[in-house]
Amino acid sequence: MFNKILIANRGEIACRVATTARRLGIRTVAVYSEADTGARHVAFCDEAMAIGGAAAADSYLKADRIIAAAQAAGAQAIHPGYGFLSENAAFADACAAAGLVFIGPPASAIRAMGSKSAAKALMEKAGVPLVPGYHGENQDAVFLQQQADKIAYPVLLKASAGGGGKGMRIVERSEDFAAALASCQREAKNSFGDERVLVEKYLVRPRHIEIQVFADTHGHCASLFERDCSVQRRHQKVLEEAPAPGMTAERRKAMGDAAVAAARAVGYVGAGTVEFIAQQDGSFYFMEMNTRLQVEHPVTEMITGTDLVEWQLRVAAGERLPLLQQDLKIQGHAIEARVYAENPEKGFLPSTGRLQHLRMPVAAEFTREDVVRVDAGVREGDAITPYYDPMIAKLIVWGDDRAQALARMAQALARFEVVGLSTNVAFLGRLITSKPFSAAELDTGLIERHHDELFPMAMPSPLPVLALACAALILSESQASADPWSQTSGWRMNGSLTRRLSFMDATGERLLGLAYERTGVRLNTDRGTALLSDFSRTGHQLSVSVDGQALTASVVSSGDSFQIFHGGQHWSLDWSNPIAHAGEQEVGSGRLTAPMPGKIVALLVDAGAQVDKGTPLLIMEAMKMEHTINAPSQGTVTELLYAVGDQVTEGAQLLSFEHKEN
Ligand code: ADP
Ligand code: ADP
Ligand code: MG
Repeated sequence: MFNKILIANRGEIACRVATTARRLGIRTVAVYSEADTGARHVAFCDEAMAIGGAAAADSYLKADRIIAAAQAAGAQAIHPGYGFLSENAAFADACAAAGLVFIGPPASAIRAMGSKSAAKALMEKAGVPLVPGYHGENQDAVFLQQQADKIAYPVLLKASAGGGGKGMRIVERSEDFAAALASCQREAKNSFGDERVLVEKYLVRPRHIEIQVFADTHGHCASLFERDCSVQRRHQKVLEEAPAPGMTAERRKAMGDAAVAAARAVGYVGAGTVEFIAQQDGSFYFMEMNTRLQVEHPVTEMITGTDLVEWQLRVAAGERLPLLQQDLKIQGHAIEARVYAENPEKGFLPSTGRLQHLRMPVAAEFTREDVVRVDAGVREGDAITPYYDPMIAKLIVWGDDRAQALARMAQALARFEVVGLSTNVAFLGRLITSKPFSAAELDTGLIERHHDELFPMAMPSPLPVLALACAALILSESQASADPWSQTSGWRMNGSLTRRLSFMDATGERLLGLAYERTGVRLNTDRGTALLSDFSRTGHQLSVSVDGQALTASVVSSGDSFQIFHGGQHWSLDWSNPIAHAGEQEVGSGRLTAPMPGKIVALLVDAGAQVDKGTPLLIMEAMKMEHTINAPSQGTVTELLYAVGDQVTEGAQLLSFEHKEN
């Protein structure tokens, strides 16, 4: 076994790999960019080496620097994690040339599966079923459209070299094909430096079911069963579970055999995932093979009682698979939720910022220690930056059966508290408890189809939440002044005066009254009244007695804003402080600004262009997603302020626009 490895990644996966390495007595070397100097993975590893600038291209993708760091540190092997260099065959070759073990498959297997098109050709030969489509070399636009017409619409265009959902375009009609092809090619070129595409029949209501495979250098190859990753947004996984609901033993064997055949066809070694798209009748087709450890590998670990990173290390060191097919069994049910810094209400747009407050559920809060696991790459105080994936953590739970796993996931999500940026925690909670997901009515369109149920109208803050906000305000005022009852804000000892307060919550303005009484403070609201007493606060934990009932919750205050975690929900209340808001102005609206820091990838109009409302004007890329900026109204683009390739900061004005007066 190795005695020192370098981890060529960051975030949760770097911490995850380091955890196993430590357990096996292997020293770990972290690498980090300028943006990650104080990152959790750096603190977590035994040693750390700086490798360059914040942008991934200047650090985590710099193969030569990473290899030099491994050599300087005296590491014997490199674990690439996922993303970054994990599926880069040239990097695997360079490791070998430098005398380092690449903890992953042989470069030849990465190459064989690296192009979705070439992989499909190979799988066809190996007898693995494929989605109807065209995956050949001919990239002529007219020819590709003929192929699409032949398989009939809707069709899906994919970047051959693609990943991460990038470049994919659904085409509904032949008339739309040319435009979709151009935009798919542009995104493919921009993201992967390769504009080749393939065409596939777009399946209706499919499920994404993938098989975890593992092979060693002694000729063994096993399937560690399936994961169902059907719940997706933008073709990216949101929830992953194992086993797949409704899976029969025969189908599991058929899919496992197909996946093992796929792995064997390319001489696979190590951890890999064969992704299939399945129809509701159970028929399944090969989609692609991911030649690395997958984000969602923990659900497989939970149902098989394995540590797949340990398996990777053992296999890379030349050992046999710890368990062979006949020794592998499924136990219970596991589910993973990806907790992202993003705003589900705004089309899942990634968000950035500092994690001012972060509380994650821990095993100790549950009855058993092995039923909840949090894989996190960040701590309270860390920032989610625009440079990398906006994942905060993965939450993984296990249960005897699906119902128990779902119930535990709902509980764990209710204990997950984040202040400082938008997250999908509340959305995940609604998703897990939604009717279609509970009933396992799974397909990749679940989120879109149940949009109204998953995005309900905001609720007015209930009385306990208003009580907590008032208690937090009273406590902060009493800290600010030795004599809280004699402030400008209207307190009087005689008890006859009511202080009027206004808070804004998600539903609008909430008017409250507070009156001082002998035994406490009387809170009057449109939702009823309560007597508040016994206020106290330790850090973010606030306690108050409401009509004699003790209530404790996390309340994070900053200035006049209160973030309250109560009843498994996050409530945000802003106090309309009559003093603080004097003199503030509305920021001018209608400006065409960058929604987040990023890079301009395409200008779709020239200066002087007359456009209609909704006309796409430019495309920027940020956090591995493309964002199209559209005309807000009919008008004229008077000036383009940036060129293709320019970096822009959040809020930067991108172009000047003159609205046409009617
Ligand atoms: P990526 O490299 O981005 O992971 P995949 O080929 O694995 O790309 O596809 C990602 C997702 O897109 C799938 O999980 C599925 O939801 C959807 N998808 C892919 N191919 C098809 C298809 N032919 N029909 C319908 N949906 C598809
Ligand atoms: P999965 O199907 O497991 O989600 P993906 O291919 O979408 O796999 O990507 C795996 C992970 O790696 C994702 O979290 C993705 O955001 C990240 N990732 C993919 N490509 C890159 C890249 N070039 N730089 C940084 N992270 C990446
Ligand atoms: Mg995929």
